[in-house]
Amino acid sequence: MVENQTAATTIDKDDLIVLAGAGGFIAGSLARYFHDQGFTNIRAIDKKPLPEWYQRVPGVECLSMDLSDEDNCKRVVEGAKEVYNLAADMGGMGFIERFRVECLRSILINTHLIESAYNAGAERYFFSSSACAYNTTLQEDPNVRALKESDAYPAMAERGYGWEKLLSEMFCEEYWAERQMKTAIARFHNVYGPNGTWDGGREKAPAALSRKVIEAKDAGDLNITIWGDGSQTRSFMYIDDCVKGIDMITHCDDLVATPINLGSSYLVSINDLVSMIEDIAGIKLERHYDLAAPRGVAGRNSDNTFIKEVLGWEPDVPLSEGMARTYSWIAQQYEDRRAGKPTPAGKTDFTAAH
Ligand code: NAD
Repeated sequence: MVENQTAATTIDKDDLIVLAGAGGFIAGSLARYFHDQGFTNIRAIDKKPLPEWYQRVPGVECLSMDLSDEDNCKRVVEGAKEVYNLAADMGGMGFIERFRVECLRSILINTHLIESAYNAGAERYFFSSSACAYNTTLQEDPNVRALKESDAYPAMAERGYGWEKLLSEMFCEEYWAERQMKTAIARFHNVYGPNGTWDGGREKAPAALSRKVIEAKDAGDLNITIWGDGSQTRSFMYIDDCVKGIDMITHCDDLVATPINLGSSYLVSINDLVSMIEDIAGIKLERHYDLAAPRGVAGRNSDNTFIKEVLGWEPDVPLSEGMARTYSWIAQQYEDRRAGKPTPAGKTDFTAAH
C-alpha cells in the first residue's frame, strides 16, 4: 500500500494554513495538531470573542471574525495554501432540532469561504460535513445497517443542519468539477473528547452524560435523566482520530471532491454509554428516561469499508479509553468552574438569539 499523504509530506512548514471555527472543539484541536507537527504559519478564526475559545495555541494567529461575512472571508484566506472549514452554528440534538434556521444559515460561511479560497488560489479546501446529511429514513431502527457513502441520495437529510451539509458538499464537488480546486469532504460521525462543549445546551451525548454523572456524584444524588429511552445507538469517534483523519483525507488525491465517512464503526447504545461512564466514575445511578426530550434518529453507525479501502486506516481509539480521558477533562473543568476559574468550554449564547 502507498504511504498516506499528509500536510507534513505535502506542504512546507511555513505555508499558510487557515482554520475556520478554531474557537470550537474540532478546529481548535486541529490547530494544536498542525502546530505540534511543526507548522509555523497557522491562522485560526472564530466568531466567538477570544476569551471564549476552547483552545488558543501559542504561536497560532487567532482572529475573532464572523465568516458569514464575505469581506471577512476574503481577508482571512489571503495567501492561504490550505483552508479548512469547520465553522458552523451547531450543537447536539437539543440544538439542531430546535434551531434549524441558525443551522441553515451556516451555508453562508461555506459559500463565501470556498469562493474566497478559490480566488486566493488556495490549493486545497476541506469541508466538515456530517452523518446528518444521510437519508433519515435509513436510521429508524436502533439495530442499524451502517451508513455507506452512497446512502446520502436519494436525499432525505436531517431538517436544517443536514440539508446545509448536503448543499455545502455539493459546492465542494462543483468547485473541483468546474474550477479544479481540490476539495475534501469528510462526513463526521459524533466526535468527542477534551476541549469540547460540555454544558450550556450545545453539548453532545458523551459530554452531557459525563457532566450529569459528575453532577450526581458531587451532589450525592444518585439519579440521572437520560434523553429518550436509552436504546438509541450511535458510534463515537475520539478527537485524535478525527484530526488525523482530516489530515489524511485532505491530502489524498483519490478522495478529491468525494464525500467519505470519518467516524468510528463501534456501535453503542446510550444505555451502554451511561454504564461505561458509571464505571469510569465508580458509581451506579438510578436511570430516569425523558421520552419527550430530543433523541435524534433511532440508530446511526459509520460503514468504514471505503475509508479502509482508500487509506488503509479507520478511527481506532477505543471508546473506553477516549471516554476516560474525556470524563477526567470535564471533571477538571467542573472543579475549576466551582473554584471560580475561567472555563470557556461550555459557555453558550444560543438562547440569546431568541
Ligand atoms: P463547535 O461548535 O465546537 O465549533 C464550531 C465553531 O464555529 C464554533 O466555535 C463557532 O463559534 C464557530 N462559528 C459559528 N459560526 C461562525 C461564523 N459565522 N464565523 C466564524 N465562526 C463561526 O463544533 P465542532 O464540534 O468543533 O464542529 C466542527 C465542524 O464539524 C462543524 O462544521 C460541525 O457541523 C461538524 N461536525 C461535528 C460533529 C461533532 O460530533 N462534533 C459531527 C458532525 C459534524
